[in-house]
Amino acid sequence: MPSANSAMGNSNSLFGNHVAGDINPGAKPTKLEFAVKMSCNACVEQIRSKLDGVSGIDNFNIDFTMGTVVVETSLPSYVIQHRIQSTGKDVILRGIGGKEHKNLGSAVAMLGGDSGFSATGVHGVVRMTQFDEANCIIDGTIDGLSPGKHGLHIHECGDISKGCDSVGGHYNPNNVNHGSPEMDEMNRHVGDLGNVLADTDGRAVFRIVDRLVKVWDIIGRSIVITESEDDLGTGEKEISKVDGNSGHRLACGIIARSAGLFENSKKICACDGLTLWDEKNKPLAGSSRQQKQEQEEGLQPSSSL
Ligand SMILES: [Zn+2]
Repeated sequence: MPSANSAMGNSNSLFGNHVAGDINPGAKPTKLEFAVKMSCNACVEQIRSKLDGVSGIDNFNIDFTMGTVVVETSLPSYVIQHRIQSTGKDVILRGIGGKEHKNLGSAVAMLGGDSGFSATGVHGVVRMTQFDEANCIIDGTIDGLSPGKHGLHIHECGDISKGCDSVGGHYNPNNVNHGSPEMDEMNRHVGDLGNVLADTDGRAVFRIVDRLVKVWDIIGRSIVITESEDDLGTGEKEISKVDGNSGHRLACGIIARSAGLFENSKKICACDGLTLWDEKNKPLAGSSRQQKQEQEEGLQPSSSL
């Protein structure tokens, strides 16, 4: 199998992207629908200037009247959201969908925070969208990690009554050994998503295309991020065949059904911004935290929410 990463291009690798179980990731751009608080027509031009000519963005549409920006892209949603936010606008990701309007299912898991569990301050959001019958897009941002690789897995159940210890093992309907997301269904758990890469600020931004995960099979289960790198089943220790020797479970969240693209017509409002975990928050750790904070504050108009 050719390297899945090679087709992603250099710009994507900067964001810690990787692709699981897919040999042609570039062929699956998703549509992202953002609600954006636009107060004047000039905002449209500002946003356009941030999206025009960016590698990985196929096309986009800015609707001033509706207060929406729809972007067709193979970049992680965080990257697009960050670009729009850099104009000083309030932005909320409202839906992710396949290229066609047909909604095959979407789900979201909040890691840590009020609805998930985290013993360590690690938190994030992971969104799953069924792109077509075969492929599921798993798009996420997780903060508070140590820099480097961390295992990401779908677990059997969504019971977080005892934190991340009560969610069972990796989702494994075929009763096979743990493996790499590149493997076929008899040589990996369906829940094996491989590793995500946290940058020096402790933030992992990723977009995974997977052929075994189906949104309809994973609602009510959970997603867990681990302390260590997943060895993808290649290690010497016995536990390598169980969980890739990926260490403690740092944070987890229950996978819940969510609105698909264009299914949620709410306009942006203060309540949305407060109830959703907000990816524009600063990284929890790292030397550039303060610097980013200052930059972002500098960009926020005083009249914003
Ligand atoms: Zn596994």
